[in-house]
Amino acid sequence: MRYMWRAGPARFVIAICLRFVAVAAIVATPAFIGAAIDAVSSSPSRENLNSSVLGALIAASISIVTTMLAERQFAWLATRALRGLQRDLFDNMQDLSLSFFDRQSIGELMSRVTNDTEAVAQFYETVVSPLIRAAMMLVLVLAAMFVVNWQMTLAALIVIPVMLGLTGLVARVAAPAFARMQERLGEVSGFQEETISAQKVVVSNRKQDWAGARNEELADGVYEDGSRAFFAALLQIPITTFVVQLQFVVVVIVGALLVVSGMIEPGVVVAFIGFVGLLAAPLSEVANMTGTIFAAAAGARHVFEIIDERPTVHDARDAREYEFKGGHVVFDHVDFSYVPGREILHDNTFEVEPGQMIGIVGPTGAGKSTIINIITRYYDVASGEVRIDGQRIADLTQRSLRAQIGLVLQETFLFTDTVMNNLIYAREGVTADECIEAAKQANAHDFIMDLANGYDTMLVERGANLSQGQRQMITIARAIVAQPKILILDEATSNVDTRTEALVQQGLQRLMEGRTSFVIAHRLATVRDAAKILVLRDGEIIEFASHDDLMAAKGFYYDLYMGQFRGKQPAATG
Ligand code: ATP
Repeated sequence: MRYMWRAGPARFVIAICLRFVAVAAIVATPAFIGAAIDAVSSSPSRENLNSSVLGALIAASISIVTTMLAERQFAWLATRALRGLQRDLFDNMQDLSLSFFDRQSIGELMSRVTNDTEAVAQFYETVVSPLIRAAMMLVLVLAAMFVVNWQMTLAALIVIPVMLGLTGLVARVAAPAFARMQERLGEVSGFQEETISAQKVVVSNRKQDWAGARNEELADGVYEDGSRAFFAALLQIPITTFVVQLQFVVVVIVGALLVVSGMIEPGVVVAFIGFVGLLAAPLSEVANMTGTIFAAAAGARHVFEIIDERPTVHDARDAREYEFKGGHVVFDHVDFSYVPGREILHDNTFEVEPGQMIGIVGPTGAGKSTIINIITRYYDVASGEVRIDGQRIADLTQRSLRAQIGLVLQETFLFTDTVMNNLIYAREGVTADECIEAAKQANAHDFIMDLANGYDTMLVERGANLSQGQRQMITIARAIVAQPKILILDEATSNVDTRTEALVQQGLQRLMEGRTSFVIAHRLATVRDAAKILVLRDGEIIEFASHDDLMAAKGFYYDLYMGQFRGKQPAATG
């Protein structure tokens, strides 16, 4: 509701006022009709009858007009509130630390962005306005009833505790069922997202049948929980109908007794029958919305879990902008864990001079990517510190730090947009000519010109219309456009053939020139020329020197290198 209020406080107040007038006008109608009947039965004057009927007509007209105006305002507020909610959800996800994304599948997150907000949207669009009307109606009808006759009012209200008790039972079954249904919906979306993203793996392993069966199973789960949830919510309708009927019976019986005993006029009973009729409308309306309300509550809880989540990596209150002074990087006794209790990096200390190229090597799982995650401050260290150009990265704004770091990863990501826009995206204010120049340096220009529409060719997210090497070259061109001061290459050439690799390497060499660069490589030949090579094993730096020195030392690196060299021998010779 806060989102609706924030969308336009003035409109919200206007909408409520209009709604109030509409409801008051409706509530006044039975009173006019009751008065008309009394006018006819007690003193049959045409004048009294006319004014009562006219009053009823005017009240009804006012109600129609103000209802339409109120609905218009509520519709506007609903769309704005939803937009605000979606914006906060998306913006907050953008700010969250990577550790948040480690904890859950992207598919389930997507489900929150779609299914759960959709449930909340339903609430904004179809529940808020009728709910406010129903609440007002209840209050006003009750007030009017009390004014007309308090004894009759109490009689009519006797049934309310029955209704509350039964509604409580419904809620106890329906609320958890809806929560489970939203969760299951998330699981289905998560599974579908994962399967579609990994379509090649699914097809190559001939797992389509398995995927279909699993999807069916998950969807059945949604269906089961959903039908239980909606069935429980639908019970609210007969309960409400029952209560309203009971109210009619009580009003007629008590009314008849009071009329017979001469305490009230018959008109009062007629008015009360009208009032009970008026109460029936909002009660049934709320009953009909029970399912939507519970689904929205379950969806909202998921959505707000994300909106309320705070990033674990955040800028210090007095964080400074990173000031580039050449790219001097120091790791000073750094310990790090992704999850408490499982240390990944232990006591890492090393120093990189400005402009140096550093190779990072080591067995799988040794912690190479982790070092990169720390330099870019995707994660904060547990102890020790990292300094770049003498500035502790923990004291810098993340934005200013990352603005100076360029990443070229093994897994390339291109946006669904033109080649040119994928390059322009890298730096604000860059010109098309500069992008073309960058593409030339990355050896990408020639194949781009061969594409159907050159630089205006549309690329697809997973880039089915480009080869792996071509995608990599565009990524390198993008990094050249970005002109980062510090460069990180993670297995950037691992997926391309040797001829393309030579082209990619050439592009990378140009990119690395004069920049402090970290190059993760499994193929050690890639980093032979590095100024120094950082050798990691089980999260510890066991060697840090140039290729020649490491070979001369005949240590772990030597063994790794000789292992790869020998591995190549038979292929080379045979
Ligand atoms: P590879 O050569 O296979 O890419 P690597 O040397 O880059 O491996 P890292 O990715 O740094 O290794 O992983 C180091 C260790 O940290 C591994 O044991 C891995 O299981 C663990 N790890 C990596 N990422 C996470 C994460 N997000 N959450 C928890 N543990 C993680």
